[in-house]
Amino acid sequence: MKKDDCIFCKIANGEIPSDTVYEDDKYRAILDLSPAVKGHTLIIPKDHFDDLLSADEETLESVLKLAQRIGAAQLKALKCDGFNVVQNNGEAAGQTVHHLHVHIIPRYNGGAKMVAWEQLKSEPEEQQKIAGEIKAAL
Ligand code: AMP
Ligand code: ZN
Repeated sequence: MKKDDCIFCKIANGEIPSDTVYEDDKYRAILDLSPAVKGHTLIIPKDHFDDLLSADEETLESVLKLAQRIGAAQLKALKCDGFNVVQNNGEAAGQTVHHLHVHIIPRYNGGAKMVAWEQLKSEPEEQQKIAGEIKAAL
């Protein structure tokens, strides 16, 4: 299903041109227009899902396999040393385009490491409480 006012629906389905690195019946992978690093790629399903929560079973199963292929191709083609697989859900997490997509970001030894955060100190009791809350919500 497509959503009329969604830019990634239009890109994924070829209505808006993009620098496509891969395409099949279900996906288009394109270069990010404002990349974190040269070669930053976005995997975009052709069907519209707002985010990971609304993705169907088939997409959940296949998207990580494609992430593996794109990452392997970046290592080979760009001679990068690693890559991040990033997927944002909700504005609080930095999601700006509300059509499910997965970022594959090339990384180089000695270069910037994305997904960096300040490491908090964890307290055993609090950790147990939080783990229990998440477990109970599954
Ligand atoms: P997110 O913050 O996870 O929603 O990521 C959205 C990404 O889409 C950002 O990295 C943008 O640079 C990228 N982006 C937005 N519009 C376009 C576009 N028309 N073509 C390619 N990438 C885009
Ligand atoms: Zn869409």
